[in-house]
Amino acid sequence: MQVSSAADVLRVIKEQLADQLSRPKYELLIRPLTAVDYSNAAAGGNSSLRLGISNEVLRGWLIDQYGDLLSELAGLICGEPVDVSVEISTAVAPLLDEVAGAGASEVPGRASGREVAAPPRRPLLNPRYTFDNFIVGKANQFAYSACWQVAQRLGVSYNPLFVYSGVGLGKTHLLHAIGHAAWERDHSLGVSYATSEKFTNEFIECVRGGRMAEFHARYRGVDLLLIDDVQFLSGKPETQQEFFHTFMHLLESGRQLVIAADRPPRALKGMEDRMLSRFGMGLVCDLTEPGLETRVAILRHKAQLEQAQLSDEVCHFIAERVRGNVRELEGALIRLLAFCDFAKSTPSLEVASRVLADFVDAGGIRPRLSLKQILGVAGDYFNVSEQLLLSPNRSKRVALARMVVMYLAREYTNLTLSQIGSELGGRDHSTISHGVNKIAREILEDPYIEQAVTQISRMLK
Ligand code: ADP
Ligand code: MG
Repeated sequence: MQVSSAADVLRVIKEQLADQLSRPKYELLIRPLTAVDYSNAAAGGNSSLRLGISNEVLRGWLIDQYGDLLSELAGLICGEPVDVSVEISTAVAPLLDEVAGAGASEVPGRASGREVAAPPRRPLLNPRYTFDNFIVGKANQFAYSACWQVAQRLGVSYNPLFVYSGVGLGKTHLLHAIGHAAWERDHSLGVSYATSEKFTNEFIECVRGGRMAEFHARYRGVDLLLIDDVQFLSGKPETQQEFFHTFMHLLESGRQLVIAADRPPRALKGMEDRMLSRFGMGLVCDLTEPGLETRVAILRHKAQLEQAQLSDEVCHFIAERVRGNVRELEGALIRLLAFCDFAKSTPSLEVASRVLADFVDAGGIRPRLSLKQILGVAGDYFNVSEQLLLSPNRSKRVALARMVVMYLAREYTNLTLSQIGSELGGRDHSTISHGVNKIAREILEDPYIEQAVTQISRMLK
């Protein structure tokens, strides 16, 4: 095989291992691998392939378990002996494994009104990101139903549909789900999913290569365009202009646009006003952190997908401790299952607590603080005494400071919502949940709140 780069070799390795390994192992150790470098044999030595992974724990596991296999595979692929090394790297592997030979995930659509060379083919979407695999709870039911309706009636219900949230709460999942559902209903539809980064890169490449017709066919000739992480268009005026024209072209011809971002339209910075006002003209909806019940249901569902037996006790244990976003929750589960797979043990409570302790150390590293510490620092920042924070006083400043405390308590302590409530002057769980969600939203919209939370967090560390 003619090998041109580390990325090519890695792509083939991933294809091979995706079939050979169990999914938890693949997800944990192989998919996150990134290509660093491939260099041909110098005199007397072997060629070398350098791969990257995000942390030392994973690197150790990978080398122990698959070091030899990786070298063997790389050797087969390259047709010569290859030394494979793995280093720590901050690069992030793409969400979708590149499919060999599929240069573009786009499908020329039937509605384009232009000559279409190839018949539409199945859009390149993550097969697991379907509506069936999405657990609905209070935090996401509105966005879920908006997405569902859009998928049933493209271009009719809400156009554009704009979905926003913090990371790991299901935006990408829902975008893919719309793509799947629409395409399942009608295989002749042209469906295209791209992150705004991909859109930008392809735009630049096509401008350079004088291939704008191809670019237009790719993005303007579809029935459903799903653009993810649109915030990355900020500060890129040329790409924004192209995006705006694509956007208008699709809307005017009744095609559906769905956009995801990490904040609501009005809070996007470095974006043209005309675009922001268009974003808000359809429906804007958000996703917030799911509550405990939903997190438990998500874990149950994911375990079922992996055909793993997970007791209710263990589901609750994980859901109570891993409280950030759903991606972290899923990461914890995959790690637990992979560990059990390696160690040939069952996911008991004891194993879970051991593996998750390790997870917190190696991964997200969130310092665990006491509510008292948070009350002190936030109280100083807002100039509100601890006594007032705990009291029923509802003046504006006190209420705001108190909600920031709730939010930070959620971030930096291991307390449940009810525990935070009882330590915070005997408030109930729904009051805390309301406060946490309110601040989570306002951080995105109000620079004053964003700054307060950032500064207090910094002082806490
Ligand atoms: P975002 O795009 O908002 O950063 P993703 O869509 O990538 O988040 O979601 C992160 C992970 O969490 C994905 O694996 C996704 O399947 C999962 N996930 C998020 N929300 C849910 C949900 N409600 N039900 C099931 N899985 C979910
Ligand atoms: Mg995403």
